Amino acid sequence: MPVFNNIYAIQLYLALFLSIVFLVSAEEAAGDAKKPLFNDYQRTIVLDPGHGGRNSGSKGPSGTYEKTVTLTLARMIASELGGKYKVILTRTDDYGVDISSRTSTANHLKADIFISIHAGGSFLHTAGGLSTFYYQRISESALMIKPETIKSLESRNIKAFWDDIQNQYIEKSRDLARLIQKSIQDQRKYLKCETQGAPLLVLTGADMPAILIEIGYLTNPAEEKALRNLDFLSDLAKGIANGIVVFFQKHSTKSVIDLRK
Ligand SMILES: [Zn+2]
Repeated sequence: MPVFNNIYAIQLYLALFLSIVFLVSAEEAAGDAKKPLFNDYQRTIVLDPGHGGRNSGSKGPSGTYEKTVTLTLARMIASELGGKYKVILTRTDDYGVDISSRTSTANHLKADIFISIHAGGSFLHTAGGLSTFYYQRISESALMIKPETIKSLESRNIKAFWDDIQNQYIEKSRDLARLIQKSIQDQRKYLKCETQGAPLLVLTGADMPAILIEIGYLTNPAEEKALRNLDFLSDLAKGIANGIVVFFQKHSTKSVIDLRK
């Protein structure tokens, strides 16, 4: 018996076909509510431009504020990655956000990675270079990190509960920090850039691979000049974006069985 033995059967099949098409489209439109497996383009990246509002962060000799540079760079990274991934900024303008809200934004969105951006300040004007930090407990990292990093950490209560959350991602976070460091150096061959562990407060409660990038020292006049240069920032943004892409390629199998999604 032929499948379409009359015009009514054809109409019925057409209606069924159209409703399936509609259902598939609706599922796609639902987006985050149910992320499809095997889809690299559904990954979420949370970028955290340091400081904001009355909290300006460090300030360069020519008057450049850390809060301005970090936001400019975060926007550049977002535009590099926007076509490939879902990118969210913890602040999109010049206003203050407390540290725990920055981390909890990433947790709430079930982000795949969290990247906090800062531009260090130091009383030593010669201090310089980029660093990509992953979380490491104070007991393990105190001897390795620079004194100026510790000042942003001390006198805060890092609760054991929060501490434990990032601990499970330390290997991946370290890998992300290293891949981004390498990728930045691919963009700017002679740039001094190192990866190190530090007990950074903004990373402790992050429930995903998380790093902090210090993109240079604003208090160093040469680095302040570089950080005011949009070509330099654009190269940094490309380096960081490429590092993220490589990280996702390397760790793609894990996300397929990630039941949080
Ligand atoms: Zn800062």
